[in-house]
Amino acid sequence: MASADASAGPGDRRPADDGLRTGLGAAQEAARAGFAAWVEAQVAPFAGAWDREGRTPGSAVRAMAEAGFLGAVVPSEFGGTGMDAVTFGLLNEELGRGCSSIRSLLTVHSMACYAVLRWGSRAQKEAWLPRMAGGELIGAFGLSEPNAGSDAAAIETTAQLDGDAYVLRGTKKWTTYGQIADVLLCFARADGKPVALLVDLHAPGVTLTPLQVAGTRASMLAEIALDGVRVPKENRLAGPGFGLAVALSVLELGRYSVAFGSVGIIRACLDAAAVYASTRVQGGSVIAQHQLVQAMLAEMATDYRAARLLCLHAGWLRDQGDPQAGREVFHAKYFASLAATRAALAAVQVHGASGLTDDYPVERYLRDSRVMEIIEGSTQIQQVTLGRWAAGLD
Ligand SMILES: Cc1cc2nc3c(=O)[nH]c(=O)nc-3n(C[C@H](O)[C@H](O)[C@H](O)COP(=O)(O)OP(=O)(O)OC[C@H]3O[C@@H](n4cnc5c(N)ncnc54)[C@H](O)[C@@H]3O)c2cc1C
Repeated sequence: MASADASAGPGDRRPADDGLRTGLGAAQEAARAGFAAWVEAQVAPFAGAWDREGRTPGSAVRAMAEAGFLGAVVPSEFGGTGMDAVTFGLLNEELGRGCSSIRSLLTVHSMACYAVLRWGSRAQKEAWLPRMAGGELIGAFGLSEPNAGSDAAAIETTAQLDGDAYVLRGTKKWTTYGQIADVLLCFARADGKPVALLVDLHAPGVTLTPLQVAGTRASMLAEIALDGVRVPKENRLAGPGFGLAVALSVLELGRYSVAFGSVGIIRACLDAAAVYASTRVQGGSVIAQHQLVQAMLAEMATDYRAARLLCLHAGWLRDQGDPQAGREVFHAKYFASLAATRAALAAVQVHGASGLTDDYPVERYLRDSRVMEIIEGSTQIQQVTLGRWAAGLD
């Protein structure tokens, strides 16, 4: 792993008690404490360096696998750790507090695992899940294309049946961890019908081009060109025509993961701002004594609680298989991602000029928070969806 990052500094100190009494079970509380300790040791000190280098070291990916995190949504029957939804959410929160890039590895890999679990045959589950849960195979999610972003139905990649294989042609864009992934959950059109296929990214005809964006810089994005890639027919999940149904169900898990990851960003912002405000002296006192600084901390502390409670509520509904869960995940992600932006802006402001340097982690939190408002349904898509639901139109 990279050497410890001085910029993590006091801003990454975690106050002992977040003040929330949320009715978690003893096992969930214990799991959360374990995740927090793991992130303190394995992630937080290095996240700034990973961000600057624009890559996640292989050792960190292996550490995720060894901790059982890559099998979080996979039942023990198939080699995973089979976490309940709330515990999975808590893992996303803690990872998101330390590093949004590595949290996004958990997100996309879990999405690929979940697709196999939810839509795969028994044979497909046995073939793929143990290797994915153990980290032997890293999964990625391939929906977006140059001409298909918010409008997933606009995908242009084709999958033409040729004997016992589909032949894939098209381009996938913005694929998180596409640079290191082994298997892509890829959406394409077969005779015009959407299909979901598991594509071996080491197969002939696959070309990767690394991409870099301002946030989650260590998440090793790639554009993936598929030029005549042969995918065995048995790698298709569900039937022809079900591709978008697979995508929607998987995106709900991703949205849930991003919502909790956003809570982690808020928490990191609050912790960093509280520590800085308690040590920086201006006007004869620490700036935490200035009421307008207190106002910023108050907003962050309240947003943290509200976002976390919305996420936990969505998680409890997911654990009960409640049909309302999907809607509550939308609300949670909408609120938490916007609140992460607010918290990051405020955390930078509390740090003054220093907040705009990489001496402190808050400028990274700000760049990362912008990503949360774009992925798994942009803010505007969330507004349209939630607004239509609220009006009873859908
Ligand atoms: C860091 C990062 C990682 C990503 N990882 C992945 C990944 O692993 N796999 C993957 O498939 N994709 C991934 N994406 C892509 C992401 O899913 C898309 O960026 C997202 O769906 C938005 O699409 P777009 O960027 O093409 O924007 P567009 O859809 O072109 O939208 C542009 C603007 O128009 C608005 N807009 C669009 N349609 C509407 C509408 N109907 N009503 C109102 N406003 C609208 C949007 O909100 C946005 O403000 C990633 C993106 C980023 C930034």
